[in-house]
Amino acid sequence: MRLSLAIDRTLDAALTLVYPQACSVCGGSVESRHDGVVCDACWKATRVFDDGDTLCWKCGALSVASVPEVRRMSIRCGRCETDTYIAARACGPYEGALRASILQLKRKPHVPHRLAALMLEAQQRDPLNDAEVIVPVPLHADRERERGFNQALVLARELSRLSGLPFDQHSVVRHTHTERHRAGMDAKARRDSVEGAFAVRHPPFIKGKKVLLVDDVFTTGATAGACAAAIKDAAEAVFVLTIARA
Ligand SMILES: [Zn+2]
Ligand SMILES: [Zn+2]
Repeated sequence: MRLSLAIDRTLDAALTLVYPQACSVCGGSVESRHDGVVCDACWKATRVFDDGDTLCWKCGALSVASVPEVRRMSIRCGRCETDTYIAARACGPYEGALRASILQLKRKPHVPHRLAALMLEAQQRDPLNDAEVIVPVPLHADRERERGFNQALVLARELSRLSGLPFDQHSVVRHTHTERHRAGMDAKARRDSVEGAFAVRHPPFIKGKKVLLVDDVFTTGATAGACAAAIKDAAEAVFVLTIARA
């Protein structure tokens, strides 16, 4: 065992003793701080998307049909035609370890290593690997003050660090305070509530670039779609990466 790894494990064990962390999913104990608030078993039981999944090539919706790899680029769900991004992908469905990690990220601005690694994997797959600059979906300033941070920015910064892609948190702003999306809102209500909410403040920084928008959850795609619509004229292309798909 490498010395650094040994120290890491010792530190992990010490931290677990001092701050025992109960798994947010099963209540068991979390043994590595790299796993965040979820135990290893629950991470292993959580579904993540991989190259074997058949997805709507554009919005990333999971398809029930299994299609041979050569035909995957032609798969469309039929609900995302008007969305202005090129393609959206998520690490996996909004459940298990991914759901628990997203909820934790709303409380504490920290991305556990295990989550960051999944995000990097998703970013390095086709077609997201074409992106040149990472942009977090902005929160309205009032909301950011309320929470103390923007969780999308925390994710984007970590992905930038791991991927080596530049990170731009200033070019895109959210200038209207949109109503919080509630579970009961349908796709149209969500779309209406964020339409026109985003604007590009510094076009030169993203002009002609392939932008990867980063957010925590993709629900109906309304937020990502509205943000992509605002920057598509400045950018050459817009991709979207979220931790989970609801
Ligand atoms: Zn667990
Ligand atoms: Zn779709």
